[in-house]
Amino acid sequence: MRKTLLQSLIGPSLTEPAPPEIGDAVELARELDSVAQRKLGRSLSIREVDAGSCNGCELEIHALNNAFYDLERFGLRFVASPRHADVLLVTGPVTRNMRDALLRTYHATPDPKWVVAVGRCARDGGLFAASRACVGGVDAVVPVDVYIDGCPPPPTDLLRGLLRLLRPTL
Ligand code: SF4
Repeated sequence: MRKTLLQSLIGPSLTEPAPPEIGDAVELARELDSVAQRKLGRSLSIREVDAGSCNGCELEIHALNNAFYDLERFGLRFVASPRHADVLLVTGPVTRNMRDALLRTYHATPDPKWVVAVGRCARDGGLFAASRACVGGVDAVVPVDVYIDGCPPPPTDLLRGLLRLLRPTL
């Protein structure tokens, strides 16, 4: 027991080496934080809405806050209520079951607000466009400010999309 404790105190950390794209993500997150501070005077608050995705897009969104990326340190905040959000990050084709929930979430978000459609399905329904369970892309229900393409888009593309939102010249 004592040996294990000593090893954990003086030994190297037991994690895998970070993948190379972490460096790009950190730079993008720093930039996003500084643009948000200039534009909003605080960090960007994001409410994620899964309107019917396969969860592939969610895995990439969750990666933004995993132990490798840890982007919360740059002020990128995911909030539990749309009432605290600046941005709705919406994934998936919009299913009939989620249509009203998305609309209610949109109306519960205070103005001014932005909507970002994440992934190919959020643009136009993607793989699921022909399904009778779907009503289409996100803009079939609420207005969209920025589209982030990909199936799914990786964390660096998510950050570039959010930067495009705050700095439309990008
Ligand atoms: S874009 Fe791809 S990963 Fe995202 S919900 Fe659609 S099928 Fe899934």
